[in-house]
Amino acid sequence: MGETTHPAEDAWVFPRVGPELFEALREAHPRRIILQVPAGLVRNATELVDRIRSETGATVVLGARPCFGACDFPSKDEAPRADVAVVLGHAPIPNVSLPRPTYFVEMREPGGDPGALADLIDGAHLPHQLGLVASVQHLDLVSPLSEELRRRGYHVRIERGDRRLAYAAQALGCNYTGAEAVAGEVEGFVFLGTGRFHPIGLAFAVDRPVWSLDPLQNVLEPPIDRAGLIRRRLLAVASVRDARRWGILVSTFGGQNRSATALALQERARARGREAELITFDRLDPRDLEGRALDAYVNTACPRIALDDGPNYPKPVLTPPEFLMALGELPLEPYRFDTYH
Ligand code: SF4
Repeated sequence: MGETTHPAEDAWVFPRVGPELFEALREAHPRRIILQVPAGLVRNATELVDRIRSETGATVVLGARPCFGACDFPSKDEAPRADVAVVLGHAPIPNVSLPRPTYFVEMREPGGDPGALADLIDGAHLPHQLGLVASVQHLDLVSPLSEELRRRGYHVRIERGDRRLAYAAQALGCNYTGAEAVAGEVEGFVFLGTGRFHPIGLAFAVDRPVWSLDPLQNVLEPPIDRAGLIRRRLLAVASVRDARRWGILVSTFGGQNRSATALALQERARARGREAELITFDRLDPRDLEGRALDAYVNTACPRIALDDGPNYPKPVLTPPEFLMALGELPLEPYRFDTYH
């Protein structure tokens, strides 16, 4: 197999680790496989290495760098001799090209009782015009849960987003365009999945109440405090309105590189009499920004770095729309989520 760039539509997708994956890998005759697992799944990663090796006969190398999305798949430099990648826990991002044939194992979760979950929503008296959004692991529950809700008189809206999303109802932490498309027609959203990462992003993206529904624990959380989230971001914007020296952060990860956005922001900053230098990195670490003679940063990589991890950095870090707010080029309201298209 060659080392040319492969369009994402040539990515192979599997619901779980199993015979279909091994069969497809054997057919590809790889010599060396790079296996990437997200932080939450590293515990059993070495067993999986053994299993893939014995099933395929190929050399299998485990990527040690934590990965957070299908946006930061192993680059050519990280695994120069691997002719195939296996990426666990993510769906492919359709508009991102890959450096080698890549087998995505989405780790679909078969659990969850749609009837019990619909009862939970009904019992909590959620509004009857609802949008439904899910993490990739729980997408198989979207259809049966919608059916159950419709049977209880709910009007459920599910939409497909832009080309960064592989499926209808799917959420990425940087892209909720499916939800945004129906936000005007619903009174609130239910996020189907675990943890707060996706529902918080959804609350930033849509001006509607967002409830999280954990389908494994059968727990419905109270709505996310959207006003509080935005208030904190607007305070960050206000704190750097007079900042003179800006660093514009650009990631080299294949699915996080917005160089064109970075250059456009640099131009806007200079037009407003500010200094702005581009700083490039792959995985950003707060320590990388220590000791620099800069007042603030704008981050063009993963939008969630500024929104979720901002307090860990030595200077304020804004998203691109927030940066334009700070320059006075965008109004403060409505708040604009930094959707990565
Ligand atoms: S850019 Fe961030 S939110 Fe988007 S897929 Fe990558 S890690 Fe997830």
